[in-house]
Amino acid sequence: MSGSGSRSKTSSDLDAWLTAGHRPFVVVISGPSGVGKSSFVKQLLAAGLNLEYSVSATTRARRPHETDGRDYVFLSRDEFKRRIDAGEFVEWAEVHGELYGTLRTETERRLDAGKNVLLDIDVQGGRTVRKAYPDGVFIFVLPPTLASLEERLRGRGTDPDERIRLRLENARREIALVSEYDYAVVNDDLEEALEQVASIIVAESCRAKRRLPMLST
Ligand code: ADP
Ligand code: 5GP
Repeated sequence: MSGSGSRSKTSSDLDAWLTAGHRPFVVVISGPSGVGKSSFVKQLLAAGLNLEYSVSATTRARRPHETDGRDYVFLSRDEFKRRIDAGEFVEWAEVHGELYGTLRTETERRLDAGKNVLLDIDVQGGRTVRKAYPDGVFIFVLPPTLASLEERLRGRGTDPDERIRLRLENARREIALVSEYDYAVVNDDLEEALEQVASIIVAESCRAKRRLPMLST
């Protein structure tokens, strides 16, 4: 009797482990401004990948279609610096002359709730996040050509000429760092690129190393 009792306990432990699924992870998306990251993010979040978005803080001005707390947490420079000093950021960086940062609460509370977390951050931020979350998945989005990148920046209509020039200059430097990433996806046709990113996330969630350690029997 005791033998069958201990066998059934072992089976239920194993069943609990089998149903626990994978340990949640962070997915970092980087790529030059205008390559289509925000367009990606919106659709990826709707794709049923157990993904939630980490809302960054920034000192840059809100664009007309953006909502405070949903697209970014918009802060003054003083408030941003206060939060740096208070240790509230996993990482922060100056990008195109403004401050941007990942709030620790955004990533931790989502991972604790078993959700994968999507971060749209620049290459400097990606480096720091890799140190904080070494088992994260790092995806770089490339434009089909530099000319199409410029066209998208102009077409978006959110930046004056001088800001577009700065973003294009920075794009060359950022693209040169693609080899620091695990995956490089070209956003030519948006649907195709989204399918590739979704496949990467699904495959990564199936990695054996992401299972919780099995209880010894
Ligand atoms: P990012 O977040 O990387 O700065 P956005 O998502 O704002 O870029 O995209 C910049 C512009 O390019 C937007 O107007 C968007 O609609 C457009 N765009 C995104 N992906 C594509 C694509 N595959 N083909 C053509 N235009 C695109
Ligand atoms: P935008 O102003 O176009 O929304 O973003 C400009 C750049 O800032 C993009 O490359 C974007 O990925 C990056 N960015 C957005 N949020 C963060 C963040 O929290 N940290 C870092 N390091 N970069 C960010």
